[in-house]
Amino acid sequence: MPKGAVAITAERCKGCGFCVEFCPTHVLELSNAFNAKGYHPPHVVAPEKCSGCNLCGMYCPDFAIFGFRLQENGQAKGVSK
Ligand code: SF4
Ligand code: SF4
Repeated sequence: MPKGAVAITAERCKGCGFCVEFCPTHVLELSNAFNAKGYHPPHVVAPEKCSGCNLCGMYCPDFAIFGFRLQENGQAKGVSK
């Protein structure tokens, strides 16, 4: 079970690749798909490696991605039903 997950808002992405470069565990790659602006947003290729550290979110200049930690039941920490 992964310890973290990412939320990606593809339409905000400019395809700079910072999130891909700075993820310490290589969770992300730029996808082949285009968003409406014509950029390639990231997608998750190794979800089991995500720690939820949010380095991707800290480096993203466009607030298009953020990482968060998961509880053992798979729910986001700090989010109640
Ligand atoms: S939260 Fe951390 S481990 Fe997960 S994709 Fe972002 S940088 Fe990588
Ligand atoms: S850092 Fe942000 S803008 Fe750059 S590729 Fe990743 S999600 Fe897109």
